[in-house]
Amino acid sequence: MKTKKVSAYGTEAADAALKQLEIKRREVTLKDVEIDILFCGVCHSDLHFAHNDWGMTQYPVVPGHEIVGRVRQVGEGVNKYKVGDLVAVGCLVDSCKTCENCKNDLEQYCPEWVGTYGGYDKHLDTTTHGGYSESIVVDEEFVLRVPENLDQAGIAPVLCAGITTWSPLRHWNVGKDSKVAIVGLGGLGHMAIKLAHALGAHVTLFSRSTNKIEDAKALGADEVIISTDDAQMKRALESFDLILDTVPYAHDLNPYVSSLNTNGTLVVVGYLGPLDPMLVTVPLIMGRKSVAGSLIGGIAETQELLDFCGKHNITSDVEVIDIQDINQAYERMLKSDVHYRFVIDMKSLKS
Ligand code: NAP
Ligand code: ZN
Repeated sequence: MKTKKVSAYGTEAADAALKQLEIKRREVTLKDVEIDILFCGVCHSDLHFAHNDWGMTQYPVVPGHEIVGRVRQVGEGVNKYKVGDLVAVGCLVDSCKTCENCKNDLEQYCPEWVGTYGGYDKHLDTTTHGGYSESIVVDEEFVLRVPENLDQAGIAPVLCAGITTWSPLRHWNVGKDSKVAIVGLGGLGHMAIKLAHALGAHVTLFSRSTNKIEDAKALGADEVIISTDDAQMKRALESFDLILDTVPYAHDLNPYVSSLNTNGTLVVVGYLGPLDPMLVTVPLIMGRKSVAGSLIGGIAETQELLDFCGKHNITSDVEVIDIQDINQAYERMLKSDVHYRFVIDMKSLKS
């Protein structure tokens, strides 16, 4: 297969800084779209992956799955997109397209789904590389259309932070009578507040950070509870229909379960791994409460969200950075010092 060399940013080891690398992209095949990347959001998953927090990283890794760009070239069989279109790529670049999940627009649960980075690239028999790069080549079925009225840097985080919170809000039928709480005000958390608010829900934020209260209210939260304050946590008992927990590391879920209403659900989207401390089942049983998980969203649902954002003029609150600042951005993300998503201006890769 014909390939071309493309400039990118990535890392070759868990303890190494990200630096400029050269990677290979395939030349477009029949159904491929080649995209010049304009902006790429920085997700906490990028950091987990670069640091091998999940124990599955193959190096070198080029992170980035919140990609916005313009179509440079299309394969002969592409009919959805043309040169110059404003498009996006999220966390998925392929799936089997035949299983029940794929048929039901749930490609993210296909056993063969391919992540935008760190997945298996069947074309080049190697690992997929993400959006911290000049350009990317993607099957048209996994390319999304971006409304032209939206800020291009601001829309990038919708591709992961947005869809990861939108999918559970939709699955659990959040609407104007819903009482929703969000745990953690970072990339996912701030999109969750905006989207739950836009759906008409009453929104509460649980945060450890007292300095984020005003921001949370400006984003659309009706209330803020400081999770380290026992008195505030006690007042939150039996209050919520749905809680989205975006915290990236192991933490105690029990206080959040206690703050669910009867039939309420706590959806973990942030942390992947065994719980510590353990979950106490008593409030689950006594109140028919559920603890669930949710992974990003399918292609059709992501397009639905992009269109919703276009209609309601919703974008992420971003701090645009040059690619050369990515290592400092990771440091700040570890300190919860993000307001509220870093987005890389990819033209800096050429400077
Ligand atoms: P982020 O921007 O770093 O935000 C995480 C927030 O969690 C922080 O701002 C902080 O908010 C809170 N937090 C609580 N304890 C923390 C701790 N020990 N360290 C750091 N933050 C802590 O992260 P993100 O990009 O929103 O991603 C959140 C998690 O979701 C990551 O683990 C990521 O891998 C995962 N994720 C999952 C999916 C999925 O499909 N399920 C998709 C994308 C990302 P406060 O200051 O308000 O407490
Ligand atoms: Zn992500």
